[in-house]
Amino acid sequence: MSTVSRNKKTNSGTNDKSQKWLINPQIICNNRFEQLSNLDEKVKTKENKPQPIFMDADNLQPLTNLINNDLQILDYTIKCTYDNQVKLQTESSESYRKIIQTPKENNASYYTFQPKDNRKYKVVIRGLHHSISHETIKEELESLNHQVCNVTNIKSSYSGNPLPLHIIETMPNENNKEIFQINKLANTIIQVEQYRTKRDIPQCANCQKHGHTKNYCNRDPICVKCAQSHPSQLCPQGKKIKDVTCSNCHGKHPANYKGCKVRKEIQEKLFSKIRHRDIMGTEKRASSQNIKDDSVYTPKSQQNKQRPTYTTPVLSYAQVANQETQYNEEKTCSSTGNMDSKIDKLTTIMEQQMQQISMMMNILIKLLALLERNQP
Ligand SMILES: [Zn+2]
Ligand SMILES: [Zn+2]
Ligand SMILES: [Zn+2]
Repeated sequence: MSTVSRNKKTNSGTNDKSQKWLINPQIICNNRFEQLSNLDEKVKTKENKPQPIFMDADNLQPLTNLINNDLQILDYTIKCTYDNQVKLQTESSESYRKIIQTPKENNASYYTFQPKDNRKYKVVIRGLHHSISHETIKEELESLNHQVCNVTNIKSSYSGNPLPLHIIETMPNENNKEIFQINKLANTIIQVEQYRTKRDIPQCANCQKHGHTKNYCNRDPICVKCAQSHPSQLCPQGKKIKDVTCSNCHGKHPANYKGCKVRKEIQEKLFSKIRHRDIMGTEKRASSQNIKDDSVYTPKSQQNKQRPTYTTPVLSYAQVANQETQYNEEKTCSSTGNMDSKIDKLTTIMEQQMQQISMMMNILIKLLALLERNQP
């Protein structure tokens, strides 16, 4: 609630000279409470709009001067978000480019996201033998009008052996989704599945904040180890550093520690949102599915129940993917969403425990060394 009152105060505080910009009719102020709103922007932004730019600004005047006078950009909207941040949305890609090409000295501390038109379309092909050359896969797909830019074979994380799984990256195109209809390639029976992105929060290796990556960050660097303003690799304290400090929570760990409470909070918020969307999506779809084809979506054990819960996935990714295309639904497969979030949670827990174990091992090693030294 403190955010509300603070923002309200700012809105009414127009007598203050430094706040004069708020009367500017071009500026729309919105109260955004959710810290994660920016993470979701990627999903929400319409395809034809450029990515939003999130700027750190205590005073908007220099920023608006730069955009209005120096760059002569008019097609933009500003929204105030949280923590003195403003979301800047340009209408045209040209204006977007103008802003992000502005030199850093022009006091523009911001981050943005990878432009949508640069994003490749990714799928997984299951069933192709690993020895089939990537060139052949490429040619076969190109004969079916899919412009392939990358083929990667997936190896087993346990044994390291190549699997009959390939990640295919194609250029963004209108026919991208037709790739799911392919069931034979290089005389092999295949299944095309959705590419699952790891539901992990990106963290910027430049400013150490979450939700964006360093390639799209124009903020001043923050050291991952000591939280001071310098690039991590140029830390004056060197490798053996006494005062490890997290710039996000000020705890005694590096900023990229997976167990950081700030990271955990963001993750929890994000996943509860995704979970909610998944559950809502599944239930919505299930109710319409019941009329069309009850047996497809409802797990057998739950068919007789009044209100089935979709906690256990009964479909493989391929099946879901096929249905996605059959019913022309573009949403991600929600019945596996729950499983995903469970796997993600487990992965996170395991990663945290690994980190803790290695920390304990370090302490033990140091202790042993001390004991050895002190022995008569
Ligand atoms: Zn950053
Ligand atoms: Zn440092
Ligand atoms: Zn932390």
